[in-house]
Amino acid sequence: MGRAFAYVILGGGVAAGYAALELVRHRNGVSPGELCIISDEAVAPYERPALSKGYLLPRGAARLPAFHTCVGANDELLTEQWYKEHGIELVLATRVISADLRRKTLLTDTGETISYKTLIVATGARALKLEEFGVGGSHAANVCYLRNLEDADKMVGVMRSCHGGSAVVIGGGYIGMECAAALVAHEIKVTMVFPGKHCMDRLFTPKIAEFYEKYYTAKGVAFIKGTAVTSLEVSDGKCNCMPQVTEAILRDGRRLPCDMVVVGIGARANTGLFDGQLATEKRGGIKVDARMRASDAAVYAVGDVAAFPVALFGGDLRRFEHVDCARRTARRAASAILQDPAASNGDNAKEEGFDYLPFFYSRVFALSWQFYGDNAAGDAVIHFGDFSPGPAAPRFGACWVGAGGRVGGVFLEGGTREQSESAASAVRRGATVAELAGELERRGLTFAVDP
Ligand code: FAD
Repeated sequence: MGRAFAYVILGGGVAAGYAALELVRHRNGVSPGELCIISDEAVAPYERPALSKGYLLPRGAARLPAFHTCVGANDELLTEQWYKEHGIELVLATRVISADLRRKTLLTDTGETISYKTLIVATGARALKLEEFGVGGSHAANVCYLRNLEDADKMVGVMRSCHGGSAVVIGGGYIGMECAAALVAHEIKVTMVFPGKHCMDRLFTPKIAEFYEKYYTAKGVAFIKGTAVTSLEVSDGKCNCMPQVTEAILRDGRRLPCDMVVVGIGARANTGLFDGQLATEKRGGIKVDARMRASDAAVYAVGDVAAFPVALFGGDLRRFEHVDCARRTARRAASAILQDPAASNGDNAKEEGFDYLPFFYSRVFALSWQFYGDNAAGDAVIHFGDFSPGPAAPRFGACWVGAGGRVGGVFLEGGTREQSESAASAVRRGATVAELAGELERRGLTFAVDP
């Protein structure tokens, strides 16, 4: 059996929702019956960041349909009804198991062949498993990952059953940090274990990390840094119960008894379907041009799976696992497919890259931070604001200084909208540190540089 569509979006996450909206709204938009979205999730696309924030709250938790795309960008709420009304076929709970780009067909796990004229790959990324690091135990009933709604439902159930108990969080990235905050809200005692010297070590400086670690410690979270969990003690499921982890064992032999484990050890782009068919980037991701077009002219890739040239970095290929990137690359591909000259960067886009400013954020407890730009190229980092933990809402930041004293990246905790706009604009136009300091000060954030 088989169906044919002009446009197929493979994957039903954030990028899929934004691409669909853009395709429908475009002045040369798609007509009913032309577009299909295939997703192995059982629900219409939703704003994935909600899973580690509102969804995990013990009270007043966010639930669908409230956070379907594209509500995160203060836009339309794309419920299943919306797709129906726009004649978009949602093929849910269906996994694509192979792709034949020569024939322009996708084979699903239900045995259906779906063909396309244009394919948008929006398969996102998957959470890395403990087993990939030689640690068993992911199958246990109280071991949680967090990538999709099913994972989030499992974690909510396990947290409820562990009230007053203890959890080990493996990984010190944003998933680990956000989940730790949720566990604390559920009155579960948390120990975080990670190999780095401090939390969020790919982004935070030691000074920034120190602030968050102190804040978390004050909430009762314990940190065990510079080591790894090398095995989990799994008890056999008795009376038909699923196996349960009872202890996490560290490299130095320490044993951490626990009622549950949360794993946040990174993600990998879902490119497997296209191995040998599309050019990929060596660090993972499908290589695309500034219009998100892959090495096969009928295929576009967007969101976490796409490695695209970034104009701000002189056309360097980058891949981001950021929700803002998923939204923007999805819109970009949709307008490129329908050829909207106004939405293109101009023709130099091809050479110089997509006009994109990397932006990432997180919210934990009463804290909220944003990061704009790049923290890799900086020659020096200047911290500013007040890092002292106190009852008042903290407001501080850091600025990564690149070539010629230009601002390459800015981190802000507790920044107002205006201050964030100043940070974004400073990175975008390569302002000097003095210019950024002046702007932030005018907008109420004293740039008292901390030695
Ligand atoms: P996804 O949203 O992951 O969607 C991919 C979709 O493709 C999924 O539906 C998947 O099931 C489907 N799929 C994959 N393979 C197949 C297949 N073979 N067949 C059918 N379907 C398939 N970013 C931020 O900037 N800030 C945050 O605070 C933040 N919080 C996050 C919290 C969590 C818990 C997670 C998991 C991510 C968070 N992110 C955050 C990252 C952000 O959500 C991602 O960058 C974004 O979801 C990427 O969108 P995407 O559409 O590329 O991929």
